[in-house]
Amino acid sequence: MTSAQVINPATEQVVTTIEAADQAATDAAIARAQRALTSWRQVAPGDRARLLRRFAEAVDADLERLAGLEVTNAGHTIGNARWEAGNVRDVLHYSAGMPERLLGNQIPVVGGVDITFHEPLGVVGVIVPWNFPMPIAAWGFGPALAAGNTVVLKPAELTPLTAIRLAELALDAGLPEHVFQVVTGKGSVVGQRFVTHPAVRKVVFTGSTEVGKQIMAGCAEQVKRVTLELGGKSANIVFADADLEKAAATAPYAVFDNAGQDCCARSRILVQRSVFDRFLELLEPAVQGVRVGDPADAATEMGPLISAAHRDRVAGFLEPSTKVAFTGSRPDGPGFWFAPTVVLPASPADRILTEEVFGPVVAVLPFDDEADAIRLANDTEYGLSGSLWTSDVGRALRVSRAVEAGNLSVNSHSSVRYWTPFGGFKQSGLGRELGPDAARAFTETKNVFIATD
Ligand code: NAD
Repeated sequence: MTSAQVINPATEQVVTTIEAADQAATDAAIARAQRALTSWRQVAPGDRARLLRRFAEAVDADLERLAGLEVTNAGHTIGNARWEAGNVRDVLHYSAGMPERLLGNQIPVVGGVDITFHEPLGVVGVIVPWNFPMPIAAWGFGPALAAGNTVVLKPAELTPLTAIRLAELALDAGLPEHVFQVVTGKGSVVGQRFVTHPAVRKVVFTGSTEVGKQIMAGCAEQVKRVTLELGGKSANIVFADADLEKAAATAPYAVFDNAGQDCCARSRILVQRSVFDRFLELLEPAVQGVRVGDPADAATEMGPLISAAHRDRVAGFLEPSTKVAFTGSRPDGPGFWFAPTVVLPASPADRILTEEVFGPVVAVLPFDDEADAIRLANDTEYGLSGSLWTSDVGRALRVSRAVEAGNLSVNSHSSVRYWTPFGGFKQSGLGRELGPDAARAFTETKNVFIATD
């Protein structure tokens, strides 16, 4: 075991020091999870449901503390952090409805009865990034536990505090020991061990596309199940017939929320050429109106970036030749601040259009017609989310069907809903989380034929 410092990104102060597990400690946690599996999968569906409901209630009772931890550890605004803790509670309540509804089929056959079962996979390893530590963890562990699996979860090195608290709450709520364990440490040690350890039967990974590819290749070695939620470069398409005022007023929040550290950030705004200048005129005051500052202040809309290294990375996208249209504000003094920034890219090959910045930088570019908008929206290796603004219902549906992305929003920028499926096309991911089929992703279908003759 070694240890790592946890830093408050709004103040640059050390918050605490956390143990970093080595391979032996990770193996021990996986072994405990494997032992806990035998009894957990046999818990009656109604009892498993009740335990998950109690876990949800424990999270609800602890909501302010969890939110406070995220403000301190990740620099999330208190409003967002409360939503995130509430999302964990809601995902757990939703998951509590799953054990009793994990229905199989009875399939007509001759000479017997044929039935299917959804068997738990075993130990599930969940690897979480630093941008939304609480919700992303819960989208994995809620349905996985509901389906009768045990879970080992690795939070990101930078943001372990809420995951550690959630594991305590699970025990307080009565979940049996070792059914849900949090193992803090490095991705290359703990996360990698989830990939290579044969007792871990599925890896749920959310993070960068680069690491996701390595996880997928590693899992192939044991034909290990994998869900990947990776990067994004989503488009916000504004047609000339849209409510331009509303589109411009909401566009900053669709990309600068969580300081742009959001896989669903609409970081490319595509605007029909005939209204391009008008849209920029409306966008400028909206961007300047984003309240950037102390994340603990309830009026704040955007906090700092997660770390000094990440701020340097984001700043690296703004080259001397980059045309910055306008920026919002940022506080002075300590903290990893970065002002909301609107860029007019010089060409379609500009890095700002092709790479995920993962910070508060948005590129705005014009398009000519519907076909051009679809072509530009799909001109990316990613396909996670997107929005489109139009008053033409037919166009809304045509464009929604044509954009290659997993989560689209018309005349709005909807965030993730736990009862609808979430995931990416192309290199944004593999598989889906949340929604009515969430528990199925943590099961194997078994077919049993019973002869009656
Ligand atoms: P990252 O890929 O660096 O790390 C993610 C997690 O993987 C961390 O816990 C890290 O410790 C672990 N990890 C790193 N190397 C590993 C390895 N070799 N083996 C196993 N685990 C390893 O990503 P990040 O910088 O923490 O997060 C930002 C990225 O996450 C962005 O690209 C963002 O788009 C993506 N993301 C995607 C979604 C989605 O649902 N699609 C949601 C949030 C974030």
